[in-house]
Amino acid sequence: MARRNEVILSAIAGMTIAFSAASKEVAVDVGHYAAEPGGISASGVPEFEFNLALAFAVKTELEKLQMKVRLIGERGDYAVLHHRTRDARGADLFVSIHHDSVKERLLPEADRFSGFSVFISRFNPKAERSLACASAIGARLRGAGFTPSRYHADPVLGESRPFADEENGVHYYDNLAVARAAAMASVLVEAGVIVNREEDQRMRDPEVRRRIAAAVAGGTRACFGKEP
Ligand SMILES: [Zn+2]
Repeated sequence: MARRNEVILSAIAGMTIAFSAASKEVAVDVGHYAAEPGGISASGVPEFEFNLALAFAVKTELEKLQMKVRLIGERGDYAVLHHRTRDARGADLFVSIHHDSVKERLLPEADRFSGFSVFISRFNPKAERSLACASAIGARLRGAGFTPSRYHADPVLGESRPFADEENGVHYYDNLAVARAAAMASVLVEAGVIVNREEDQRMRDPEVRRRIAAAVAGGTRACFGKEP
């Protein structure tokens, strides 16, 4: 009987976790906008197009997990950064989707750089939750076979952005506007380095994109699943 009660209790606990995560809303932000589309990939495709495709894939994967999604910037008309976080008010997490580049002087050797990075700000009012979500997303990306780029921590190759969670590729970027200005927990994901010729191709593969999106969604779900 005690055993049976334990089974029932753990089933109820599982349902509670599922319900608390399922009721969460995630603002999925498409980085950049049509007039200023961000970096240009090795083959000449603007970053905004990569961000748009991945954001829609993340939305699909989050909805599969019964989470609510609010897309921000999918029409390509958000020129003012703080309008993004303003229009995300009420959401539980802000996830900004980007694709990475390297410093201009390193562009000739861009094929050396690859992998994902996740950024958070210590000035975000939910800094602890932001880190939990960023770590969970990084861990899921690693689990899906992707590798942290790490170069953003380097003073020469990157911008000396300290690691918040080195293993999972999470960096502090304290003045990052979309992380700082957000009222809710906020993370920025750089999915891959599109100035690298191989990674440019890889990031346009729908199956790779789906795996990245599933990892971002799964990590998001996991960081809310820990709530009481
Ligand atoms: Zn970007």
